[in-house]
Amino acid sequence: MSSRWAPRWELIKITVNGRQETVCYDQETKLYLCPRCGPECLKGGIPTSGSYFFNQQDLLNHLLAHRYELWNKKKHKEVEEEEEGGEEDEDEE
Ligand SMILES: [Zn+2]
Repeated sequence: MSSRWAPRWELIKITVNGRQETVCYDQETKLYLCPRCGPECLKGGIPTSGSYFFNQQDLLNHLLAHRYELWNKKKHKEVEEEEEGGEEDEDEE
């Protein structure tokens, strides 16, 4: 018996802010994983760190928050000044 967690990732496409994102869903633990926090899951690996969610809505909120990097206040502060002038949008066309 192995004590290692062996996730069985299923890649799921969800729509975030009108854009499609591929996220990871583990059929073993029934948890969703943010692919930006733990990109290893996209390749079937086990992320060393990551953000896990019990339902798609929570994951969705988390992905939306990524856009503003709410937990990265330093960066947010720097961006603030530029924001006034116009749109800051790092999305590719
Ligand atoms: Zn994340």
